[in-house]
Amino acid sequence: MNERTIINNIKKGDTVALSKAITLCESTLEAEQKIAQNIITALSGKSEKSIRIGITGVPGVGKSTFINSFGKMLTLKGKKVAVLAIDPTSEKTQGSILGDKSRMNELATDKNAFIRPSPSAGTLGGVANKSRENIILCEAAGFDVILIETVGVGQSETTVSNLVDFFLLLMLAGAGDELQGIKRGIMEMADAILINKADGNNVQKAKNAMLQYKSALHLFPPMQNGWIPQVNTCSALEKIGLEECWNLIEKHNKQMCVNGFFTENRKQQNNYWLHQQIKEELGNKKYTQLKTEGKLQALEEQLLNNEATIYQLLAAL
Ligand code: GDP
Repeated sequence: MNERTIINNIKKGDTVALSKAITLCESTLEAEQKIAQNIITALSGKSEKSIRIGITGVPGVGKSTFINSFGKMLTLKGKKVAVLAIDPTSEKTQGSILGDKSRMNELATDKNAFIRPSPSAGTLGGVANKSRENIILCEAAGFDVILIETVGVGQSETTVSNLVDFFLLLMLAGAGDELQGIKRGIMEMADAILINKADGNNVQKAKNAMLQYKSALHLFPPMQNGWIPQVNTCSALEKIGLEECWNLIEKHNKQMCVNGFFTENRKQQNNYWLHQQIKEELGNKKYTQLKTEGKLQALEEQLLNNEATIYQLLAAL
C-alpha cells in the first residue's frame, strides 16, 4: 500500500490502512518515519470531533475489563471506538499487557472498534507523541471515541492528560492503602474517579470508599475549567455504572464546549506537543533561542489556524 492509498483508505475508515499508518509511525527507520509524517500531515485537522478519554489505574484494577464493557456499550450506541495504550516502561507491566486484545474479547471482535496495543519501550515523551499521532489517524478514520489506557503508577498520567479531553481514574475499595500508590497529583487530574468491582460482597465497601474519595476531593483546589470531579462506583465485569459514566463524560463535554475550555484545552495541548517536539528534535538550546527571540508564539498561531502541522513547522526551522 503506498502513501496515497493509505491516506485515501484511512479517510474511508479502513482499519488495515490505519494499522499500517500506525506501524509506520512507530518505525525507527527514517524513510518510514518520513512517509508517516506525510500521512499525518495530510490527515491533520480533518476531524477533531472525537472525545478522547484517558483511563488509568493500577494493574489489576480492571482497566481492560472496563474498556471492553464500556467500549461495547458505546458501539451498541452506534459509536466507533478506538483503544490506544501508553506504557512507556515496557510492553508488560506486572503481567498486564496494555491494550491486549485477548483481554478485550468482545470489543476486539466488534467491527466498530479498533484496538492498538502499547508500542514497545521508548521514552515517555516519544511513546506519548506516537499516541498523539495515532489519535489523529484514528480520528481521520472516523472513530468518535478514543480510549487511551495507561497504568496509574508513574509519571505517564501527566503526559496522558495532555492528550485527552476527559481523565478517568479507576480505583479499588479496601485494597489496603487507600491511595493504592496513586499519587495525589493523579487524583487531582481526574475528572472522575470510579471505584470498580462494586459487585457481590464488595458493594458496601465500594460505597464507603466512594464517600472517602468524595471527601478527599473536596480538599483539592477547584479545576480551572469549572468542572467538579465526580466519584462513583461501577462493576466493569457486571456492566453496572457504565451508562452513568458515559452520561458524565457527555455532560463534561457539553459543559466544556459551552464554556470554551474544550477548544482551549486542545489548543494548550497542541502547544505543549509543539514545544516538546522542538525540544526533543532540535534540542533545548534551539528551544531557548526561539523562546528568547519571541518566535514560539508565531508558531503556535500557525498551528492553531491549521496553517501547518508540527512537522511542517519543525522542518521550516
Ligand atoms: P487491568 O490490569 O487493570 O487491565 O485489570 P483487568 O481488566 O485485567 O482485571 C483484573 C482482574 O479483575 C480480572 O480477573 C478481572 O476479571 C477482574 N475484574 C475486573 N473488573 C471487575 C469487576 O468489575 N468486578 C469483579 N468482581 N472483578 C473484576
